[in-house]
Amino acid sequence: MALIVQKYGGTSMGTPERILNVARRVKRWHDHGHQVVVVVSAMSGETNRLLGLAKAITESPDPRELDQMVSTGEQVTIAMLAMALKSLGVSARSCTGGQVGIRTDKSYTKARIQSIDADGMHRDLNNGMVLIVAGFQGVDEDGNITTLGRGGSDTTGVALAAALKATECQIYTDVDGVYTTDPRVAPKASKLDRITFEEMLEMASLGSKVLQIRSVEFAGKYQVPLRVLSSFDEGQDGAFDAHWQQTTGTLITTELDSTMEQPIISGIAFNRDEAKLTVLGVPDQPGVALSLLAPISDANIEVDMIVQNVAEDGTTDFTFTVNRSEFKKALSILQETGKAINAREVSGSDSIVKVSIVGVGMRSHAGVATRMFRSLAKENINIQMISTSEIKISVVIDENYLELAVRSLHTEFELDRESGESSVHG
Ligand code: ADP
Ligand code: ASP
Ligand code: MG
Repeated sequence: MALIVQKYGGTSMGTPERILNVARRVKRWHDHGHQVVVVVSAMSGETNRLLGLAKAITESPDPRELDQMVSTGEQVTIAMLAMALKSLGVSARSCTGGQVGIRTDKSYTKARIQSIDADGMHRDLNNGMVLIVAGFQGVDEDGNITTLGRGGSDTTGVALAAALKATECQIYTDVDGVYTTDPRVAPKASKLDRITFEEMLEMASLGSKVLQIRSVEFAGKYQVPLRVLSSFDEGQDGAFDAHWQQTTGTLITTELDSTMEQPIISGIAFNRDEAKLTVLGVPDQPGVALSLLAPISDANIEVDMIVQNVAEDGTTDFTFTVNRSEFKKALSILQETGKAINAREVSGSDSIVKVSIVGVGMRSHAGVATRMFRSLAKENINIQMISTSEIKISVVIDENYLELAVRSLHTEFELDRESGESSVHG
């Protein structure tokens, strides 16, 4: 008997019919004698709808009230799934984050989980009950509802799995695993059977939204076995045979089997949510980066890539990227600073994307960057910025070339699937 935490995303919970399907799957696991905790998201589109309603009231809603509101989507789906399970004769109970003791700090809209009351849940599970927990939410020490950031139900799932010492945390979604890149952009993307936490964390940080970044961090830190798999594939978990755990979905793991040949590149990530800002002709003197970036961080705007050019004639150029939603704000701050420090020109673009190749295999292979740049040059794609780390290379390019860039890099690094259909739903 295993204790399994299963998380179902918005598309998987998107209609009453799909919720009944989820209930049938949960019942199968329960019937096989496993203890099951289910974490659910709101129905797809619901969280966006709620955020839209808040914005219709005011441009900057009070964060406490916003969390009170957007957390309600999950309260609907927990109850629907509990009803569905009961109708199938399974003993089940829906619980809000607060009801299972998910305590967070007070950072509304991006709260961090501090503790979870595992004992209470173990008691119910030992009594044969299936627990259905609202993802994405917790309560602070004063009982205020908090939310964990977009995509936060993944983190609820992993955190519960860590607290309950579950055998595995299964993230059921609308694709049947983690692919070499988003299969919606590159139809030749292939499913990975395994990927390391380190690579998955890079992929998530660089824009692959299949898992929330924090859930991967959490799973790595607490060594939670994490698997991504499809809620639409009927046969996928039906067999419960000895090979199930080797073959289903994608397992996120600490180490890959050292006897297997490692690919140089495991995946390609991209981020459409960035914008670029440039200051030309700033005096090349100590403290200039600080004077440009301090007002940006004082305004709570996060900076991602930063590039400073080699100085010429006593001046230098400076380019950095921010989240696209902060572009206008960042540009107007930079125009002010630019004037104050006598910069020649301030400009920006919010029609760029960041494309990154990721792989631990890069550590032991030379010439990966050259291959990447050659492949982009062949397609006539201009690189605007470059940044590298030990296991990734990122470039900023014009957004119109995103698909071409991802597909040509996918082919260049031999990631293309031989044949067969990919499994994308929703
Ligand atoms: P859920 O609602 O179940 O949480 P998400 O939309 O958050 O689902 O995540 C699943 C989606 O992530 C897929 O539909 C796919 O388009 C996208 N995605 C992006 N990168 C990848 C990748 N490398 N592998 C698989 N899916 C990816
Ligand atoms: N419903 C929340 C969102 O859309 C949380 C989640 O789905 O993980 O971001
Ligand atoms: Mg998600």
